[in-house]
Amino acid sequence: MSTIIYPSPIFGPVHSRRLGISLGINLLPADGKVCSFNCIYCECGFNEDHRPTLPMPTRQQVAQKLEEKLQDMVAQGQLPDVLTFAGNGEPTCHPHFAEIIDDVIRLRNQYCPQAKVSVLSNSTMIHRQEVHDALMRVDNNILKLDTINPVYINKVDQPNAAYDVNLIIERLKAFNGHLIIQTMFMRGEYNGESVDNTSDDYVAPWLEAIKQIAPQQVMIYTIDRETPAQGLLKATHEQLDQIRDRVIAIGIPCTASY
Ligand code: SF4
Repeated sequence: MSTIIYPSPIFGPVHSRRLGISLGINLLPADGKVCSFNCIYCECGFNEDHRPTLPMPTRQQVAQKLEEKLQDMVAQGQLPDVLTFAGNGEPTCHPHFAEIIDDVIRLRNQYCPQAKVSVLSNSTMIHRQEVHDALMRVDNNILKLDTINPVYINKVDQPNAAYDVNLIIERLKAFNGHLIIQTMFMRGEYNGESVDNTSDDYVAPWLEAIKQIAPQQVMIYTIDRETPAQGLLKATHEQLDQIRDRVIAIGIPCTASY
């Protein structure tokens, strides 16, 4: 099985048709994964298979390595289009996430003011005021909401602490539209049970929650790489297109990645 553990604290740049040139910022250890979820589809693998021995990078290390990389990129005339917080787990688990956001915005303004700052987060730390406030300062605040069915969340996202989806929805609403919801749709089985969230039983209540949260955009996607759990299947193009069109029909921009 080939899951990915990213270098830390800076990786890439990665060229993508959708994002352009994306420079990755990984606030997790370089030799393993730290996440408050343990998603069965995680491209980094299961938490228990990648326990790190190294610490998280410090705030100073992140700023220094990012500055060096941006100086390099400026010298090569290849500026990033986006600085993306992603990598080996959940970036908001870093104890200095909020201060690091400020450092990254400062360096972005200095070296590549046209670049966007994006954060990919699973929404589990947004109850912390400093995390909420820091996410309000980034350009693309991309927050995960795979379903609103608690049984499905426990089966597929596997939070490692209490997770109340209704509270999460309230906290997502508190961003007052300054957020992008990201949702994984898939089919298949895990441990002999269906993990298909493409049917109306899942989509209709999720759509109702999306309406209440009123994000600036929704991004839906499906499995793209090898997953740690066996038996998972991609949602089809048609299923993703139908779900996308239902989001657009309630007046919210939505993109589907296959
Ligand atoms: S939230 Fe993201 S990093 Fe964490 S387990 Fe899920 S997919 Fe992996």
